[in-house]
Amino acid sequence: MEENCIFCKIIKGEVPSSKVYEDEEILAFNDIDPAAPIHILVIPKKHIKSLAEMQEEDTRLISQIYKVINKIAEDQGFKEKGYRVIVNCGKDGGQEVGHLHFHLLAGTQLGEKIV
Ligand code: AMP
Ligand code: ZN
Repeated sequence: MEENCIFCKIIKGEVPSSKVYEDEEILAFNDIDPAAPIHILVIPKKHIKSLAEMQEEDTRLISQIYKVINKIAEDQGFKEKGYRVIVNCGKDGGQEVGHLHFHLLAGTQLGEKIV
């Protein structure tokens, strides 16, 4: 847990969020400023600053996050239609919150591909 980290505060319940999924290691909640009809943030409870900061020991946790993403897609009924997962990393990657998070976007034909 990191002081002054908005997502750590959400994990601790100090800042409210609209929770979608939670287990011992992972939390998912709706993005406050959605960029698509479905815009969920999936985060590890462990404070990892960015994808660039992940350690060897985090590999299992990161793959678990993808498993949770698929579970959410299944539970919310958009697994068949499709979805997009985005991780912004660092300044050039457009990362604004310094706690690793996976954007899960769905619910419409998503716009232009950047990559
Ligand atoms: P990024 O630009 O990749 O760091 O994405 C940060 C995301 O966090 C943005 O999409 C914000 O809308 C979202 N966000 C920031 N604060 C909150 C909050 N309190 N609850 C939910 N989403 C948030
Ligand atoms: Zn944090």
